[in-house]
Amino acid sequence: MTKSEELFERACQVIPGGVNSPVRAFGSVGQTPRMIASAHGAYMTDEDGNRYLDFVGSWGPMILGHDDPEVREAVIRACADGLSFGAATRREVEMAELICGSIPNVDMVRMVNSGTEAVMSAIRAARGYTGRDKIVKFMGCYHGHSDALLVQAGSGVMTAGIPDSAGVPQGCTKDTLSAIYNDLASVERLFEEFPDEIAAVIVEPVGANMGVVPPASGAKEGQAAEGPNEKDVAGSNQNPGFLEGLRNLCTKYGAVLIFDEVITGFRLGFTGAQGYFGVNADLVTYGKIIGAGMPVGAYGGKREIMERVAPVGPVYQAGTLSGNPVAMAAGLAQLTILKEQPEIYDELNKKGQWFFGSLKQIADESGAPVQVNTCGSLGCMFFTSEPVVDYASAKTSDTAKYAEYFRYMLSNHVYLAPSQFEAMFLSAAHTREELADVLELVRRYFAIQEKNH
Ligand SMILES: *Cc1c(COP(=O)(O)O)cnc(C)c1O
Repeated sequence: MTKSEELFERACQVIPGGVNSPVRAFGSVGQTPRMIASAHGAYMTDEDGNRYLDFVGSWGPMILGHDDPEVREAVIRACADGLSFGAATRREVEMAELICGSIPNVDMVRMVNSGTEAVMSAIRAARGYTGRDKIVKFMGCYHGHSDALLVQAGSGVMTAGIPDSAGVPQGCTKDTLSAIYNDLASVERLFEEFPDEIAAVIVEPVGANMGVVPPASGAKEGQAAEGPNEKDVAGSNQNPGFLEGLRNLCTKYGAVLIFDEVITGFRLGFTGAQGYFGVNADLVTYGKIIGAGMPVGAYGGKREIMERVAPVGPVYQAGTLSGNPVAMAAGLAQLTILKEQPEIYDELNKKGQWFFGSLKQIADESGAPVQVNTCGSLGCMFFTSEPVVDYASAKTSDTAKYAEYFRYMLSNHVYLAPSQFEAMFLSAAHTREELADVLELVRRYFAIQEKNH
């Protein structure tokens, strides 16, 4: 028995499923999890001393690679000053100034401890601001595990509020409406049915929790994607992209547009999806990269909405450890590097385009029924012959095929997400040489597959 197996067996006695977050369990790929002992740069090492090239990156935070020396030093310095005070501190001010000074449409920001908390709080702020109760989310988008958002509405677009988890009362999800990703008409129908009741539309600007599903672009040939316009979606000759269309609908019906940028924030570029696609949201949520590996989330946006939050406004939201000095130090160090060296994003996005483009070419040449979706440094391979544009098409993937591919890669020391429906995360620490080796490995995998059939 390996040390990982031994530890996992112990874990299963005292932690549900042996893990503190379900996707870590490796259940869907028919393996037991590797217990990770340490990680540096693009590599992780498990308790048995196996070293893996890591494409999970703690699910996104490690955009600079693991154990960045400046981030580590900042954390050590902060620790020497004490771990938490439950009082206001300088680093929180610096963090808020950095975000508000850089991100379009974010006038004020509140720090919390996770992405889940950020989204839950942003929705409360949107409801408090509009005085409305209903929210629209998209099937296949993940917004953390708060009650109201654990809804995928399996039985169709117009079906409101079917909880996705045991333990979530119907009452908690009755105001959650589900729409289809990349399908503006499905959103418009909900607005037409509830014109004065929808507080917010929340969306992952790039779907990254059903595999990677980029938003449809509406730009016509020879026409660059534009920022938000005030035209209606219905009756307009224009053919807006998915995100512009959501912007238009929210503006038209007085609803708050929330971009859940827990993955895309500070990844597609420093200004996240708002900057990348040129579409402004009213509220934005952050997590993952903003904490550089420490447990951090944040939500922010227009002053008039954020000033509804306590103690200036009536929307209550609080946190004993929010804005924790060690977490702020880690996040500030990482964000400062990213802000001061924008070439990191140029290189990362170019690397992504080349790597995922090559992956697609290899898959196409093999003739295997595989789709490669990508946006910036995010990408994923779906084992299906259908283009993946939403939850339903993502679900056509053959998860057994993904599991087989995952096991092949893992046995060759490449650590992918242990689920078909997650992204591959590239970091600044992945070199083109390492990525070229991975491409070669994938080429070999498809060659073996072909021989076996
Ligand atoms: C990870 C994630 C969350 C939840 O963040 P946690 O820190 O895990 O609570 C919310 N939204 C999106 C888009 C995410 O990817």
